[in-house]
Amino acid sequence: MSWDKSVKEIKWNDVMETERYEYTVGPAGEEFFNGLKQGKIVGSKCSKCGKVYVPARFYCEDCFVKIDNYVEVDKGSAYVDSYTVIYKDDEGHVLEKPVYIALIRFPNTVGGLLCYAEGNVRIGAKVRITNFDWPLRVMVE
Ligand SMILES: [Zn+2]
Repeated sequence: MSWDKSVKEIKWNDVMETERYEYTVGPAGEEFFNGLKQGKIVGSKCSKCGKVYVPARFYCEDCFVKIDNYVEVDKGSAYVDSYTVIYKDDEGHVLEKPVYIALIRFPNTVGGLLCYAEGNVRIGAKVRITNFDWPLRVMVE
């Protein structure tokens, strides 16, 4: 493992540590990803303050209490919170078609999901989840 600083662009010459290990998604992540397999968006609801986190989290970041109450979120109410457009691939080649990545949120929940988006992508627009494989794909209505 070493850094090659002889070139203008600094390059890492080995596999990053994170790629050598497998990480579990944890109990809340498991609920969330199992939900996706059934076409559901699963959040977790804090028993103290009532906040619903999407994706599901194991602890409430405000109350610091463990959350073990998982709830299905109304996926029909998803909307575009913000988005970005990618025009080039990792190596700088211009893509045939720009790729839209949208942060989608659900009303009355904390958090959001990054998705590949198609359609007339714009802030505030409603989205329909078209593919529940991770990362999700959505169609902006
Ligand atoms: Zn709470």
